[in-house]
Amino acid sequence: MFEDLRDLYQEVIFDHNRNPRNFRVMENADRQVEGFNPLCGDRLTLFLKMDGDVITDASFQGSGCAISTASVSLMTEIVKGKTEAEAQELFTKFHEMTTGKEEHINLEALGKLAVLAGVREYPARVKCATLAWHTLDAALKNEANAISTE
Ligand code: ZN
Repeated sequence: MFEDLRDLYQEVIFDHNRNPRNFRVMENADRQVEGFNPLCGDRLTLFLKMDGDVITDASFQGSGCAISTASVSLMTEIVKGKTEAEAQELFTKFHEMTTGKEEHINLEALGKLAVLAGVREYPARVKCATLAWHTLDAALKNEANAISTE
């Protein structure tokens, strides 16, 4: 990764950590799931508003490290207006990007989420970045009220 690109990515992560987007409790949420990453201590509650299979609103509360906060902030922005299938597709791509199982990642398809591509170099931080998405996955599947990365 080029240094200037890395700097830009860092800046976006810092920005979302300082000013998390959609950081609020949602009244009358259709889905509400708590996520916990015991490795780092990241905790979040994800709220979703659904219209059929479209995510019309997403917000969160909680506290965690910069990576987990930036990740959930970016995620709540990007999934708004997406269908469940589109959100699942993004989750798959995001997971491939952060775990590094895929050599050639199409960063363009990930949009702003590409700023988190750097975590693949820090395996201990991958769960910080994917916590939001595992929580979203559980919320969409309506599987549980609380999930843990462990
Ligand atoms: Zn963390």
